[in-house]
Amino acid sequence: MRSYPAEYELVSPGDLAGALELLHREPDTWLPVAGGTEVMVQYSAGKLEARHLINLWNIAELRQITETDTSLAIGGGCTFTQLRESPAVQHHFPLLALAASWTGSIANQNRATIAGNIVNASPAADSPPALLAYEAELELISANGTRKLAYADFHLGYKKTALLPGELLLAIHLPKRFSDWFRYGQKTGTRNAQAISKVCIAGVGKLREDRVEAVHIGMGAVAPTPVRLYSTEAALCGAVLNDRAIADARRILASEIAPIDDIRSSAAYREHVAANLLEDFLRGFAASKDLE
Ligand SMILES: Cc1cc2nc3c(=O)[nH]c(=O)nc-3n(C[C@H](O)[C@H](O)[C@H](O)COP(=O)(O)OP(=O)(O)OC[C@H]3O[C@@H](n4cnc5c(N)ncnc54)[C@H](O)[C@@H]3O)c2cc1C
Repeated sequence: MRSYPAEYELVSPGDLAGALELLHREPDTWLPVAGGTEVMVQYSAGKLEARHLINLWNIAELRQITETDTSLAIGGGCTFTQLRESPAVQHHFPLLALAASWTGSIANQNRATIAGNIVNASPAADSPPALLAYEAELELISANGTRKLAYADFHLGYKKTALLPGELLLAIHLPKRFSDWFRYGQKTGTRNAQAISKVCIAGVGKLREDRVEAVHIGMGAVAPTPVRLYSTEAALCGAVLNDRAIADARRILASEIAPIDDIRSSAAYREHVAANLLEDFLRGFAASKDLE
């Protein structure tokens, strides 16, 4: 185990058991750091309160992507480059591969991990809408064992999560049942690279004849947490995607998001763009029946 004596202490246990042991002994003392692309920004700005850091980088148990017949398990320490390049992610969860390709620059994607993106809990992060649309399940681990939690239940409020002291995000589990669903993902930002989203969306759906049989929509930067648009989805289920259904969906969407004004955008702009992205998704979804 290496350590760096300084005002800040960074220890590298090298394996998962070592990291969990430290967290178990002093859960309020140690802050895990994976790629460091969030933590180091806080450090550079002089805002990093934690003084004792556990290095998770390259812990093998966190870096694997494992495929079974029915699901994919993505280790929390997988980088966005790994996700972007994974044939299994590209094939079964293309919206996640797309979100990975949007996450900052290539240099950022080489360091930034999916667990860091989730646990950092920015409402504008790029991977959450895809994780919500694909009904991801999180596997959390502590020295006491593991537990599973639907990702949709992870965010409790702005920057508040269900992660308990002493826990790490071990893996993200994704059911392999969406590869033949229509899919749509978009990020609006000032530019394609190195810009945090003003609004981002991921939607998947399937039609039975002309009607919506199922639809899942995740959205970012429109509420204190990433949101799954359950009310909009409920209104769309069973509907024929004509102008009226799309107008209704835009109206219901407005009632279930709560965008804010900030340095990147205004609430009014975000609301308008969110509705336009939803409509773009639904028009493509409606047209997909002609491709079957
Ligand atoms: C220049 C730049 C551009 C960026 N652009 C984007 C962008 O376009 N889209 C976007 O979504 N994000 C962007 N980000 C944010 C950032 O890169 C992501 O949020 C990244 O995924 C964080 O992962 P990390 O491994 O670097 O996290 P870290 O900084 O290592 O950690 C972040 C938080 O997660 C916790 N954590 C990390 N791993 C675990 C784990 N396994 N279990 C429990 N807790 C854990 C840490 O304790 C910390 O609280 C950008 C950042 C920078 C610096």
